[in-house]
Amino acid sequence: MSAAMSMVATRIPITAPWLDDQEIEAVGRTLRSGWLTQGPEVAAFEREFAEYVGAPHACAVSSCTTALHLALRALGIGPGDEVITVSHSFIATANAIRYCGATPVFVDIEPATLNMNPAAIEPAINARTRAILCVHQLGMPCDLEAIVATARRYGLWVVEDAACAIGTELLFQGQWERIGKPHGDIACFSFHPRKVITTGDGGMITTSRTEWDAQFRRWRQHGMSVPDVVRHEASTVLFETYDTVGFNYRLTDLQAAVGRVQLRRLPEILERRRSVAVRYATLLAGIPGLRVPEEPVWARTNWQSYCVRLPDRCGQRQVMQSLLNHGIASKRGVMCTHRTAAYETVPWSASRTLRESERAEDRCVMLPLYPGLSDMDLERVVAALCDACL
Ligand SMILES: *Cc1c(COP(=O)(O)O)cnc(C)c1O
Repeated sequence: MSAAMSMVATRIPITAPWLDDQEIEAVGRTLRSGWLTQGPEVAAFEREFAEYVGAPHACAVSSCTTALHLALRALGIGPGDEVITVSHSFIATANAIRYCGATPVFVDIEPATLNMNPAAIEPAINARTRAILCVHQLGMPCDLEAIVATARRYGLWVVEDAACAIGTELLFQGQWERIGKPHGDIACFSFHPRKVITTGDGGMITTSRTEWDAQFRRWRQHGMSVPDVVRHEASTVLFETYDTVGFNYRLTDLQAAVGRVQLRRLPEILERRRSVAVRYATLLAGIPGLRVPEEPVWARTNWQSYCVRLPDRCGQRQVMQSLLNHGIASKRGVMCTHRTAAYETVPWSASRTLRESERAEDRCVMLPLYPGLSDMDLERVVAALCDACL
């Protein structure tokens, strides 16, 4: 093995999904069943997911991005409408608004939680505002109680981008509840490998509205009136119809079989992620000026990412390069959508400042955090960060 290869072999990644023989067995069982795309495994995954988050309905789709698209479509969002959201998020959040022909209106975040500042919403509301698309960024719940209260006052819909937030809990009207109930109108989850549980790619939409759930199910499968599973199992001949223009946004049974195992593993995944976060907070307290993430008293995050704010004396790129030289992967803070070339021409509002969003992108660094991160590797990360910052 060359020196370069051994370097790569020992590099600590930013994340690593926890998959073993159980997922392999589940895929094998599905392959042998002969039904590969959306079918019985998807239906079972939906039931188990709905039960876990406490939602009346859960509809599986191909990604969180497609979930967000269908959620906004169900609300009738279209050209001329404005949707209030954050720039400080993965670009897919704002893209979903543009897929509908609507305009994203960006508001700033709170530096402590990296989530939408509820006080910034009201000044951004006008006659064209239809909905708030809030994000539970990096698994940390946003202040749903305040956001939903503002939305209800102005008759706006609330869609939760819960891509990172499976297993996250919040204190809502005096009760601890899981994200996805949903507390707004619709919540959207992701099963990309960067998230807390994975199906390779995949998404889920939860809602308490039966008619929206039925609409999601038609749209995800070409607008088909009778799902193919139903036709195949029927004892009389059934002809399907196409009454609306739909999409192919299906999750496959192969993916759902993996998702069901991942969901069973989730309590242990969360426990391990939380113990890594506690250890980071303890050990990183030794670096003067470094700010570690903290949960508000009403929040219990799943620690999808561990995002620290650097002391003023440290350059972001230099710290990340120094970590890389020690064989440690890291990521910069969440990128601001309004700074990307794809959004140059979008009139997201020039009058509003997104200072905290920009500072978080420029001053934060995400550290490795995953269930299999050993104590030894964690100490390596802390030592390298000390070396880069002191
Ligand atoms: C990952 C992510 C998405 C996109 O999820 P996909 O399943 O990859 O489409 C959307 N929003 C946020 C906040 C994310 O982190």
